[in-house]
Amino acid sequence: MEESLKAGQKILAGGGSAIDAVIAAIKIMEDSPIFNAGKGAVFTADGFNELDASIMDGATKRAGAVAMSRAIKNPIEGARLVMDKTKHTLIAGEGADKLARENGLEMVDQKYYFTQHRWEQLEEAKKKEELLLDSDKQRAHLGLYTEPYLGTVGAAALDSKGNLAAGTSTGGMTNKMTGRIGDSPIIGAGNYADNDSLALSCTGTGDIFIRVATGHEASALYKYKKLSATKAAEEAIKQVAALGGTGGIVSVDKNGNPGYAWTKDKLGMFHGEARVGQEPKVFFPVAK
Ligand code: ASP
Repeated sequence: MEESLKAGQKILAGGGSAIDAVIAAIKIMEDSPIFNAGKGAVFTADGFNELDASIMDGATKRAGAVAMSRAIKNPIEGARLVMDKTKHTLIAGEGADKLARENGLEMVDQKYYFTQHRWEQLEEAKKKEELLLDSDKQRAHLGLYTEPYLGTVGAAALDSKGNLAAGTSTGGMTNKMTGRIGDSPIIGAGNYADNDSLALSCTGTGDIFIRVATGHEASALYKYKKLSATKAAEEAIKQVAALGGTGGIVSVDKNGNPGYAWTKDKLGMFHGEARVGQEPKVFFPVAK
């Protein structure tokens, strides 16, 4: 987490864009086997790894996303390609992998994503016939922590030009149906950025985050109801909880104020903040 914050911070300190900072921060977490994104992605019911990711630029409202990728090493880079190189916003499956391959992104085979602990999670989920939300149920699966801190990854940034950007990347939910797409690559659900309000990334029960349009909801609450970044995140998350979902939001508003909210005490909201010229701060979830 600290490494990821520093990667984003370095780009912002050099006058780089919020988009580049978000991508740099997310790539570090995608390359780590411990988060549910990139290398550490969870398995589908049929034993595949299918990855979803998105990126949004708050200045132009341009966005890109990939879903169900089985071969892009860093799906967040695939999302950027969709934004920069196509007329589309979301490309799924084979098409996403083809686009990435043709544009020279680093490609991997399914074996790359294999991790023993994720495989064991799938076996356990199958036994119990459960759809597992990584942050909710997979307690201490690495033996590193005693609480479920690790899951989907996301980042939001504000750069020196006042531009906001947000990105989200995930392997989804353990034992999800092959072909299932969650909220993470859906702009307005698991990800959103608007220079007039905030940039945010969500984690949680994706199928419910889609129905709440959680990302846009938090942004709208900030913009039209004039709630603070944290209050807007809390209000949006309450709607997720009301429909039986769990999860959380990380955000930063146009003035650089961070916002966090999650549905439950000690849910997987391992998070941090980095400001240029200051040591990054990492927070473990605290009871709210
Ligand atoms: N939101 C993700 C999904 O539903 C899962 C997660 O955040 O852990 O695919």
